[in-house]
Amino acid sequence: MGVMYYNNMNQQEYKINVYRIWWDEGKDLYVGSTKRKLSARMASHRRSCRTGRTDYSLFNFIKENGYDFNYGLIKSYMVTCRDEQMMWEQYHLGLLKPNINKNRAHRSPEYTKQYQDDWRDNNRVEQREKQKIYHQKNKEIRNAKNRKYWQDTKEVRAIQEKKYRDSHKEQIFERRKRYRESHKEDEKRRSLEFRKKNKNMIVCHCGERINYGRKDSRLRHYNSKKHTKFQKLIKTGLKSL
Ligand SMILES: [Zn+2]
Repeated sequence: MGVMYYNNMNQQEYKINVYRIWWDEGKDLYVGSTKRKLSARMASHRRSCRTGRTDYSLFNFIKENGYDFNYGLIKSYMVTCRDEQMMWEQYHLGLLKPNINKNRAHRSPEYTKQYQDDWRDNNRVEQREKQKIYHQKNKEIRNAKNRKYWQDTKEVRAIQEKKYRDSHKEQIFERRKRYRESHKEDEKRRSLEFRKKNKNMIVCHCGERINYGRKDSRLRHYNSKKHTKFQKLIKTGLKSL
């Protein structure tokens, strides 16, 4: 998945790649997006094509034009969720209008049925059960491993994060600004509440912050250890002068 970064709202950001697939004849084009390496994603396209588990339109084009398709990166983006990823994919779909993706919307009922049958074949219940058990078993081990990895990469991550912050100063600034602007009302309310609460707060000459607006808390403070000790100190100090 590559290096993870953080934005100010503590959402994990990750890199996604919008890519295209085409053949030498040049008339057929497909656009997709992945958070994996392109080579890995292409391998999985080919694999799912063999097993019949893929976007059916792409499946047919691969069958027709051959497995040795060309592929390339269109652009990479940092995103925080799948919706954002799909937004970028959609953006490039709009620009390039690839014919293969377009056909996706017009899948015939037979294709859909075939696709579903194939999918079920490849996802037998037993297999899913097996996977479940396996995952349960390995959960602890995985968690421990993850924790260790997290610990071990702490320093490296700190360096990477700093590098990212340094090279993305403007973006981070913009993001924070956007966040502040969209949370203006909250901020206003908070600061009003704070001021109201702290209206009568003063710093006593003993150094303690006290609520001067309330008689009981004022008196409680004057009888407190810190304040009486301070008073005594002053008196003895004055006497020795
Ligand atoms: Zn005091």
